[in-house]
Amino acid sequence: MNINSLVRPNIIQLKPYASARDEFKDFKKSMTFLDANENPFETGLNRYPDPQQSALKIRLSSIKDCNANQLLLGNGSDEVLDLIFRAFCEPGKDKVILLPPTYGMYEVLANLNNIETIKIPLNTDFQPNVSDILKASNSNCKILFLCSPNNPTANSFGAEVIEELLLKFKGIVVIDEAYIDFSEQESWSSRLAEFPNLIIIQTLSKAFGLAGIRLGIAIASPEIISILNRIKPPYNINQLTQQSALNKLENLEIVTNQIELIKNERIRVLSALQNIDFVRKRYSSDANFILVQVDDANKRYQQLIDKEIVVRNRTKEPGCNNCLRFTIGTSEENTKLLTVLKSLT
Ligand SMILES: *Cc1c(COP(=O)(O)O)cnc(C)c1O
Repeated sequence: MNINSLVRPNIIQLKPYASARDEFKDFKKSMTFLDANENPFETGLNRYPDPQQSALKIRLSSIKDCNANQLLLGNGSDEVLDLIFRAFCEPGKDKVILLPPTYGMYEVLANLNNIETIKIPLNTDFQPNVSDILKASNSNCKILFLCSPNNPTANSFGAEVIEELLLKFKGIVVIDEAYIDFSEQESWSSRLAEFPNLIIIQTLSKAFGLAGIRLGIAIASPEIISILNRIKPPYNINQLTQQSALNKLENLEIVTNQIELIKNERIRVLSALQNIDFVRKRYSSDANFILVQVDDANKRYQQLIDKEIVVRNRTKEPGCNNCLRFTIGTSEENTKLLTVLKSLT
């Protein structure tokens, strides 16, 4: 597959902005920097951040078992997703395929970029409908978004299903792995070499507990990463974010322990929900949240609000009639949720 043939022609021709730190890279602390119009008085934050985030990428590449040139970082996954739209989709002409119910940002970004969406709903098991997806695809369908584990359904897509789509879809396949650290499935990052059209999206917002710093990650071939690098804003990852991410990644044991705790709580909450009489269906979860069908989602949502518990009402999503989404909290928070649910009439 020729990736360049999928890229928008104006992006191929684009001359990227060259920042001061791009033009002079042989950075040594001893040098006198009079090139970027910075304030010279040292505060730890008076200098522009590293536009390529080299230290952070080196650390992430060892954790994710890839090369640093296979990583692009964004101001949250949302920026990474927006860059992918802008690299591959010609406004008013190209299309993307979405599989509802899924993460709402894909559609928002498509609309923002004036890209038509083709929606192929997941089947009743919340799995992709492969033949319908391939039937709907034509040469203007540039991107297929697969969210696995999927938000809000919490399940992962079958590996055979994903593999067939990776092999047969003629455009870019984005696999959004925001919840991969809670999943029994392996990340597709180990299989990147087999699929030149694959972009994996991860984030520090969920398992790594850093939603506040906004750090999203794309993992793909060096070829795709270099295309995205051409169009990213020069200093899109600020100094504080790079520093907090590095600090967090120094001690992964804390992260691993929290993931274990959350997964254990997931089992406990899922099991206790069996004893709530207005719960109609509990969906299995490969993520840090649970989708539950109740008798009347609007009523139960409001009753929880009245008890100062905020969950997500997903009843309007296709295939999610009367469904609520519960994030797994601390043990105390989950116990509070379960106690309140039991008390509702
Ligand atoms: C939470 C979430 C993200 C993370 O977005 P950030 O912008 O990195 O915080 C990405 N994809 C899905 C499906 C999510 O649910």
